[in-house]
Amino acid sequence: MTFLLQEDTLQVEELSCPGFAKTYKIEDTRVGLHGIICLHNLALGSALGGIRMYPYSDFESALNDVQRLAIGMTYKSAVSGCAWGGGKSVIIADPKQKTEDLLFSFGRAIERLQGVYIGAEDVGTTPADILKMRQETRYLVGLPHEKSSGNPSGFTAWGVYRGIQAALQEVFGSSSVHGKVVAIQGVGSVGAFLADYLFWNGARLIFTDVAKDRAMDLAKRYGAKYCDPEDIYAQECDVFAPCALGACINEKTISQLRCKIVAGAANNQLLVEEDGARLRQKGILYAPDFVINAGGLINVTEELTREGYCPTRSRGRIDGLYEQLQKIFALAKEKGTSTHEAAKALGDVILAEKIGARTEAPYFHHSL
Ligand code: NAD
Repeated sequence: MTFLLQEDTLQVEELSCPGFAKTYKIEDTRVGLHGIICLHNLALGSALGGIRMYPYSDFESALNDVQRLAIGMTYKSAVSGCAWGGGKSVIIADPKQKTEDLLFSFGRAIERLQGVYIGAEDVGTTPADILKMRQETRYLVGLPHEKSSGNPSGFTAWGVYRGIQAALQEVFGSSSVHGKVVAIQGVGSVGAFLADYLFWNGARLIFTDVAKDRAMDLAKRYGAKYCDPEDIYAQECDVFAPCALGACINEKTISQLRCKIVAGAANNQLLVEEDGARLRQKGILYAPDFVINAGGLINVTEELTREGYCPTRSRGRIDGLYEQLQKIFALAKEKGTSTHEAAKALGDVILAEKIGARTEAPYFHHSL
């Protein structure tokens, strides 16, 4: 009997990108794979971050995006006390056209890096895709598997809820959401969980979503107000919670805001760093996105501990985001800066001093 062995056409080429620990270009012509794995900072440990699939128009725009996202992961991990390195990867493809072979090949690329990068689901990939990649590599988290942590959305939303409480305490002297008006932009995975937690604790809600039917159904369920996506910024409310896309906080939208607090799950909410200062000038308290939305990261990293994943321990650690945000609000006040700058400064100290840096190798229980 003869076996035809398939030639391994996967190429992992290291690129030189100043300011980044390691950057790898991933190509596999046999399966049409084009991607990048970007490790921004490894001061605290291996880099952990999602695997995004998106039809970028060219390699440069994919590289810009993966770099920006990897930097965000470095700060999120440092400031939330996770103490992993910051990384991210992108596959340049339309998620509608993904194939098993492409996922397997990307899994092999992660395997070649021998654990210096740990991947997870992100925009354009699903937990089921990550489970497929696991056939080629164990360096993955957030899998639908009994020894993994699964979908992090509910945990991310819990961190956002606790962050809203910290911001309310700062602004109103009470952390209670009872009677407070919260406007949620995007009631997808995280936004819907957040709506649930807020509703049961007595908040009054406003929803919008480009998926109008979903937002209207939820509005009916929770006795909330629905507004069209373009009207969300001008809603009079206590808290504006962006849970859809990045860059939603910019000069134009800030001029429309009629809230006291911006606190939501979306990544990269500020279009430019100066928007943090603009919010401050307008007297709006901003809970920095990479701190308040770290619940999902905390949850997936729990599965890498020696003991393995434990949801109650994860919840306890996510609760700690309340105190971390209080610390950042105090630091911003003391230094006279925006909360965004204060959170970045705190991250810089943690990275420079390597506070909490990892000494024990991670455990991949789902593949032991
Ligand atoms: P999702 O895709 O499930 O939900 C996003 C929702 O926003 C969708 O319902 C979509 O229709 C809606 N939307 C898109 N554009 C909109 C617009 N212009 N106006 C109003 N609604 C719009 O995503 P998710 O997992 O809920 O994540 C939400 C945000 O939180 C994203 O920015 C994500 O990067 C970030 N985040 C998510 C997690 C997590 O655990 N899922 C963790 C950290 C950060």
